[in-house]
Amino acid sequence: MGMTFTGQVAVVTGAGAGIGRATALAFAGEGLKVVVADLDVTGGECTVEQIKAVGGSAVFVRCDVTVEEQVKQLMEQVISYYGRLDYAFNNAGIEIEQGRLADGTMDEFDAIMGVNVKGVWLCMKYQLPLMLAQGGGAIVNTASVAGLGAAPKMSIYSASKHAVIGLTKSAAIEYAKKHIRVNAVCPAVIDTDMFRRAHEADPRKAEFAAAIHPVGRIGKVEEVASAVLYLCSDGAGFTTGHSLAIDGGALAI
Ligand code: NAD
Repeated sequence: MGMTFTGQVAVVTGAGAGIGRATALAFAGEGLKVVVADLDVTGGECTVEQIKAVGGSAVFVRCDVTVEEQVKQLMEQVISYYGRLDYAFNNAGIEIEQGRLADGTMDEFDAIMGVNVKGVWLCMKYQLPLMLAQGGGAIVNTASVAGLGAAPKMSIYSASKHAVIGLTKSAAIEYAKKHIRVNAVCPAVIDTDMFRRAHEADPRKAEFAAAIHPVGRIGKVEEVASAVLYLCSDGAGFTTGHSLAIDGGALAI
C-alpha cells in the first residue's frame, strides 16, 4: 500500500543538508510542492536544484529558525508561493560537542536551546494558525533518541530534545480536535554531516556508533524521511502526540 497525501504543500527546515534534504526530496517525490528552508543558502539552493532535476516543485527561503521575524516571514512566503501549508517538518537542529554537565557554558546552552527548542516552538507558533485557518494539517518535529533517554556528555542537547517532545505532545493535544496532528521523530545515529563532524576525527567513535544499534549499523537519512512522510500521510490519521524512534533497535536494549 503506497502512502497517500491529501495535502499539497510542505515546508522543511534544515532542508539544506542531511535528514531535512532527504525529507524534502521525499516529499517532492510524492508530488508535493516543497518550501526548502535553511540558514545555509548554498545547501538550501542545492536541495531545490536536486528536486527540480527530478521534475519536482520547490523554492528556497533563507531562514534562521531562532529569529522570530524570519520564521514569521518564512510562513508568509510559504503562503505567497504555494497558497497553503499542509505539512511541516521542523527539523533544523544543532549538536555541539559537550563536556560533562558542570563544564557546560552559557554560550553552548543558549545556542543549542535557541535552535533546537526555540526554533521548533517558533515554527509551530506560525504554522498552526495557517493550518487552523485551512482546517487541518500535520506537523513533524525532529527530536532524537536523546529526547527519550540520556547519554553522557550530551546534557544540553538531550534536554533540548526532551523539550521538543514536550512541545510536540502539548501541541498535539491542544489542536487534536482541529484536525492538526503533531508528532516527533527520534532518530538514533544517522549518517549526516552532523554525525561525520562528531565522529570522523576518531574512527573508534564511528565503530562505537554502529555498535550501539542492534542492527549493527548507523541509519540512513532516507530511513528518517520515510518515517516523516508516514506521519504526515493519511494512513497516520489516528496518530498524534507520538514520538517515533528510528533507531535500529537501540532503545530495545
Ligand atoms: P545536519 O547538520 O546535516 O543538517 C542540519 C541543517 O540545519 C543544516 O543544513 C543547517 O544549516 C541547518 N540549520 C542549523 N541551524 C539552523 C538555523 N538556526 N536555522 C535554520 N537552519 C539551520 O544535521 P542532521 O543530522 O540532518 O540533523 C537534522 C536534525 O536531526 C537535527 O534536529 C538533529 O538534532 C537531529 N538528529 C540528528 C541525528 C544524527 O545522527 N544525524 C540523530 C538524532 C537527531
